[in-house]
Amino acid sequence: MKHRPYGEHWRGIKGYRVIEEVDDYKHNIGGQYCEVPVCKLCGKRMHQIFCFDLKDPKLSELKACGISKLPLVSCLNCAMVWKPQYFQLSNEGRTIKVLNQDSTEDWTQDEEDQLPVPLPETYVKLFEMKDEDVPINEENYDTAFDLFGSEYVCRLLGAPLYEELPKDLECTKCNSEMMYIATITQDLGDPNLISVVDFQIGEMNIFYYICKKCLVIKTEIQST
Ligand SMILES: [Zn+2]
Ligand SMILES: [Zn+2]
Repeated sequence: MKHRPYGEHWRGIKGYRVIEEVDDYKHNIGGQYCEVPVCKLCGKRMHQIFCFDLKDPKLSELKACGISKLPLVSCLNCAMVWKPQYFQLSNEGRTIKVLNQDSTEDWTQDEEDQLPVPLPETYVKLFEMKDEDVPINEENYDTAFDLFGSEYVCRLLGAPLYEELPKDLECTKCNSEMMYIATITQDLGDPNLISVVDFQIGEMNIFYYICKKCLVIKTEIQST
């Protein structure tokens, strides 16, 4: 099995907690640095949720992509995010186009509960995950889930926290297996973990994958 939900093999493979704090590198939550497509379902511009600065040596694994910025986007106000979405990055990572969106549901969040577009912007910094964030056994897995959302809202690289194994990680262009990048969850912190916006996205985790060769990004959710 290639992607085991937990196991000793994750020990020592640490990713990063993404936390609001000023950094030497320009990592952001929110903002509109990139050219993001308009959502076909709700008609608003999609959210640039995070944008990571690939000059940061912590992200050297992703650097081979030939892009200098890595934006993680999706509309968070409608049903588009519920089914897999594929995006094409170009222009050094500053332009995002939709390749494919599978959602057929027709649901849009009530206007008063929608997240603003663009999301208010603030800095974030990458902190090495703690041991309890790394899913090496079943017990630890539950702890890791508890901390995710209550102490930080984005896991970057390292071990994914799957509820179930993802089935289809093939790049739509070249059929190679895509690489796991990050997972985003909602803000359950008290006080809020993200100060500039009440980051509520519902009970789901959004997983991001990339094909570094084709610069294709996939999103897929799992319910929490
Ligand atoms: Zn939408
Ligand atoms: Zn590919």
